Amino acid sequence: MGELLVNLWHEITTFGQEIWLRVAWLFFWKRRGARYIVILGAPGAGKGTISTMLSARMNLPILSTGNLLRREIANGTAIGKQCEELVKSGQFVPDEIVLQLLSQALDKPEYFQGAIFDGYPRTLSQAETLRKMLAWWGNKVNRVVLLDVEEKDLVERLSLRRICSNKSCGQTFHVNFKPPRAENQCDVCQSELTVRDDDKPEVVKDRLYVFHETSGPLRRYYERNRLLTRVVADNTTGPDDVLRNVLFTIEQFD
Ligand SMILES: [Zn+2]
Repeated sequence: MGELLVNLWHEITTFGQEIWLRVAWLFFWKRRGARYIVILGAPGAGKGTISTMLSARMNLPILSTGNLLRREIANGTAIGKQCEELVKSGQFVPDEIVLQLLSQALDKPEYFQGAIFDGYPRTLSQAETLRKMLAWWGNKVNRVVLLDVEEKDLVERLSLRRICSNKSCGQTFHVNFKPPRAENQCDVCQSELTVRDDDKPEVVKDRLYVFHETSGPLRRYYERNRLLTRVVADNTTGPDDVLRNVLFTIEQFD
């Protein structure tokens, strides 16, 4: 009787192990050939627009830390409540929280085949963390695209940007490039559109200065790793042409 029980126990545990091996294998298998693309660019360079178009063309979801955070706030989660005040007062959300949201997201099957990172990483240390997070799944950043726009073009674009005044919606529009259907009204929730405080011309120059200062090391890091490609995205180049060049560089280095 004792021996039978021991044998039975042995069967159960080895059977269990096999299942876990299979689950683990499936998990990693699913992520083979996954493609992770990072879109970099100054404020107003068109990261959001190009990411959206690229997402449709490559059939990959966008992973935007801004959107993850807005979703937490809208759902009233613990993290959301913690960050709501910070976001409202225009302060930066601590790195640990952004990381937590990102690693939660990367565990979800919807990102197993890859993702387009919009607005992350912003700093060298975030890039290093992202590399480690993806490496855990046997993946890596496949290509980094820097949308290259001259400063005068950026200032012009940012001053024409509009954002939905409903904080939990946060849809963005642009008077020239992405006008709302009804003037000054959000297509999604019909709230009034406003100019973000930091899109006002006097603030824009400061933001661009800060961007160039902080993104320098990040750019050089990706350049050293031979991952970075610059794509011209100025006001004379339409979004379709930018997208074509972005797709070209992604396929070229695939
Ligand atoms: Zn809205």
